[in-house]
Amino acid sequence: MNSAALVPQPFVYDGDVYERNMRHATGNSLQVILKVTERCNIACKYCYFFFGGDESYRDNPAYIQDETIDQFAVFLEDAVRSYHLDLVRIIIHGGEPFMLRKARMARLLESVQRAAAGTALEFTVQTNAMLLDAEWIDLLARHRVYVGVSLDGPREFNDLNRVDKRERGTYDRSLQGVALLFEAFRAGRLARPGLLCVLNPDFPAERLYHHFVDEIGFRNIDFLLPDDTHDSSDPALRERYKVRMMELLRLYARETRKEVRFRFADKIVDALGMAPLFSRVLHRYFTQKEIVFTVSSKGDIAPDDILRTTDPALMRLDLNIATARLGDVLRSAAFNRLHDAAFTLPGACAGCDWASVCRGGELYHRYSRAQGFDNPSIYCDTLRAAHEHAATMFLQAGASVAHLERRMAAQPYTLI
Ligand code: SF4
Repeated sequence: MNSAALVPQPFVYDGDVYERNMRHATGNSLQVILKVTERCNIACKYCYFFFGGDESYRDNPAYIQDETIDQFAVFLEDAVRSYHLDLVRIIIHGGEPFMLRKARMARLLESVQRAAAGTALEFTVQTNAMLLDAEWIDLLARHRVYVGVSLDGPREFNDLNRVDKRERGTYDRSLQGVALLFEAFRAGRLARPGLLCVLNPDFPAERLYHHFVDEIGFRNIDFLLPDDTHDSSDPALRERYKVRMMELLRLYARETRKEVRFRFADKIVDALGMAPLFSRVLHRYFTQKEIVFTVSSKGDIAPDDILRTTDPALMRLDLNIATARLGDVLRSAAFNRLHDAAFTLPGACAGCDWASVCRGGELYHRYSRAQGFDNPSIYCDTLRAAHEHAATMFLQAGASVAHLERRMAAQPYTLI
């Protein structure tokens, strides 16, 4: 299998064309990471939001105000109508979202529901679960909110980095909230909560997996590689992250419970399974139809929050939901630049066997001040090993070598 002939072509995004296409298309989806609070009740040592370098949150209100909620509803209603949105996904984010007063959260959920009437609507909240109580569970159940919990592992690992402002561990308080979520799940009131865990190379994978899946009962799991860039990551740690991730992938490969889903692994398998034609043409088409951005507690619009660790200039669009419309976001310079980067394979990835599947990895892992996004992922070795592992599993599950060869030979990001 050889993709040495691939020559990355810079992609240039025309915002006006994109906006027009979106306006006349159907099946568009919108995902908004909505910062309902810009403060947290704890102080995780690795937190990108508070310690990632971008301190713009200091200028924002600690809590989203009623006026901003109303403006967001108007923005959303206009976006749904103007761009025929089929799906609106609101990720309720912070800081810690449950620091918001319940009455204001209820107002937010109700306003968004009214604004997105007639369209599929999904609410997700990402939380440390420490502030949950019975009233929160009632509110979440009433509005069918899916809850994702952030934890790092069992107490002895979690409490090394997930500490409160007095440097005390947070595991026990988080688990009280998790217990309420599982109680509501068993009563059929909420979906089973999901888990988000940032990998630490010092934590044994088997212990993490066993704790989350068997001892707590999570099924929908995401183990994330830290959101570093080429400027911030420690090269000495990369091999160790690879070892841990591969241990987790091997545990997942042995998993017999079908409900257990490990998103990092599933994403690779899905990409491998994609028909080559789809990967060349339709992938781009559908990716364009998924719009993702962040709204701060004062209504400022910025690209996906995870990119905060990259170029701070990218995060300033000078757009606010009080005055902007979705079309202004689609035409903005920062969105154009990000779209170009996402659809241009890093030069150093040319010739990689996995280029058409991996596409250089996550955008933020590609960033350096010197070369922007024109770098392979800082976790390139992990990605190569993970793709090799997934391909082996894929063949063992009955996929043909011919399919894999065609899939890997497909040109990434080709326009035809
Ligand atoms: S990041 Fe690494 S594995 Fe991924 S396409 Fe680039 S060279 Fe290949």
